[in-house]
Amino acid sequence: MRAGLLSFVVILLSGVLVACSTSATDTVVLAAGTASAAPQASPSVAPSTVASTAPGAVTGQSTEGLDPQLLGGLAVEVRTRSTFKPRTHVTWPLFGLATVDHAISGHVQRSRHDFRKSYAGTGKKGVAQGPELNLGWRLVGASPNAVGIAIDTVIFAGGTTTESSRSFWFDPATGHLLPATSTEAQAAAASPTLVAPTSPSTTPPRVRQPRRSQVNCAKVKCVALTFDDGPGPDTERLLSYLRKGKVRATFFMLGQQVKAYPKVAKDVARAGHEIGVHTWDHQDLTRLSKADVAAELGDTVRIIGKDTGVTPTLLRPPYGATNARVEAAAARAHLAVALWDVDTLDWKTRSTQATIASALHDTRRGSIVLIHDIHATSVAAVPAIIRGLRHRGYRFVTVSQLLGHPKPGKKYFRRG
Ligand SMILES: [Zn+2]
Repeated sequence: MRAGLLSFVVILLSGVLVACSTSATDTVVLAAGTASAAPQASPSVAPSTVASTAPGAVTGQSTEGLDPQLLGGLAVEVRTRSTFKPRTHVTWPLFGLATVDHAISGHVQRSRHDFRKSYAGTGKKGVAQGPELNLGWRLVGASPNAVGIAIDTVIFAGGTTTESSRSFWFDPATGHLLPATSTEAQAAAASPTLVAPTSPSTTPPRVRQPRRSQVNCAKVKCVALTFDDGPGPDTERLLSYLRKGKVRATFFMLGQQVKAYPKVAKDVARAGHEIGVHTWDHQDLTRLSKADVAAELGDTVRIIGKDTGVTPTLLRPPYGATNARVEAAAARAHLAVALWDVDTLDWKTRSTQATIASALHDTRRGSIVLIHDIHATSVAAVPAIIRGLRHRGYRFVTVSQLLGHPKPGKKYFRRG
């Protein structure tokens, strides 16, 4: 199971903040400026930058960075390395930009190496005060023209705390490093804005679309399993169950969840499942203005397209709440309205057994089954649902496969 990247980042950042909050030292910028990949002659923690303090002192300076969500369209992968002896916890971001990643990774590796060298053999086995390296990162500038990352190093050793920091600036569109003194970097630090994908070469990733079914639902017993409200932290586990069961399903995603878990959304598409729209933030569409409904659908279609390469053709309105106005908006957005006929009530019971029982008991030929992949109890029910329905002769298809060619703006509860 893989947690969504952004929340993962937030967790890591808050972890760093906790670690930093025990000291009152100022952050010392070792090498602001052009982050060249040239090897450093001196260790990362030069004596002149060492600032020591008694442990337990109250922090006087916030080390909080900008909201990582400002990275917006920029893909970020967080790497973490931990060792127990000596204690090291190191986390750093990668952006898929060769020069940038090389510079940041190089700095991180040198910091680890220097720490190990400097403190080799110090600290007795099993003693809590053994030396510790904590290296984290934060976003210090964001704009379509410049992104700034600070790598913060905190070393606890011999009762003192040593902090240092180094910043790396780059152009997210070209992947070139920038001097911290550049106009772009200073503007991105002074008034941060969302890093939108700026390069025209940002084409959506190509993914395998759900294949045309070999299954003829007019002749065999078909069922469509559907999963709402994700993607979330349990979605990868669900994908592994579906893969093992050779089952294609349909995921009705929220735009805001895709934003938080873009990689998971992409994995869903790559596995060949169908992706439909469940709006951006799960509002009852019948209560919104025409313009707001259009935005709820349009924004979600766009982020699904951007992050998964899939163009959705189905809308599942939150709560199943729909009316003529919602259906007209769906038609304009080229989306058929896909409801359900089997509600497992998994969100209510939060019971794996009850979810299995409902899915097996209520499913009929041509059913659309509603489950939520944001609940671990629901995801846990899926292997038994697959086994049980297969045993009863069902074939698993996506909603579009089940319905044939669903018509935009038209409402469907099941096949037939
Ligand atoms: Zn929902």
